Amino acid sequence: MDRLLRGASQLGLELDASQLDRFERFYCEMVDWNRRINLTSVTEYEEVQTRHFLDSLTVAAAIPSGILRGARLLDVGSGAGLPGVPLAIARPGLSVTLLEATRKKAAFLEHLVGELGLDTTDVLAGRAEILARDPALRERFDVVASRAVARLPVLAELTLPFCRVGGIVVAQKARGATTEIEDAEDAIGRLGGRLREAMPVTVPGSNVRRLLVTIDKRAPTPDRYPRRPGIPSKRPL
Ligand code: SAM
Repeated sequence: MDRLLRGASQLGLELDASQLDRFERFYCEMVDWNRRINLTSVTEYEEVQTRHFLDSLTVAAAIPSGILRGARLLDVGSGAGLPGVPLAIARPGLSVTLLEATRKKAAFLEHLVGELGLDTTDVLAGRAEILARDPALRERFDVVASRAVARLPVLAELTLPFCRVGGIVVAQKARGATTEIEDAEDAIGRLGGRLREAMPVTVPGSNVRRLLVTIDKRAPTPDRYPRRPGIPSKRPL
């Protein structure tokens, strides 16, 4: 995990031996379960450290330090646990919830959280459109993060309802996502958000360049959002 150790340090995150051990076990579990369920196409040891682990840790750079300590973070469409699990390992003070619609992936996440002993991390199996109606989850999170789930106009509807007023949504996007961002501005406004910035980041030790799109939650999301499962992607706002 040398590449991860060096890269995390460049991001201002100093990982100790027990954290590195957790990343190592995360890698082994991901590769093992990937033989049975489709979690990721990136499985090579060095590549996982940059494309999955360090890429996830860049999210920490977009979160103001005032929010980060003791915050509740939700990862929407977590898949194999990205970006939520690397953030939970690197920031033990953070309380992390991993939300995933596919049952088998959610089962992997349950197993992983137990195996790594992440006692401030939990897993929700289900669709964001449904779970955002639960009063225990709606507008309850300080930070809502998401990677590779949907275009921003759709993603805004799947994430902003969970975010408390005063909190932020962080979406990891490709560097060329500027049109996508422009297309999302109206949707973000309707959902109670306002675009704060699109911060360019390069994943340390690689040529992977991304935009971290940060949205401020300014007002409660109107009750009619999110719409029924599938509607946000079928008819984006
Ligand atoms: N975030 C992970 C990553 O970056 O590797 C997974 C990305 S994968 C391409 C998208 C994931 O989002 C899938 O696991 C899918 O099941 C989940 N997903 C898509 N739409 C969702 C929804 N409406 N609610 C919950 N999960 C959803």
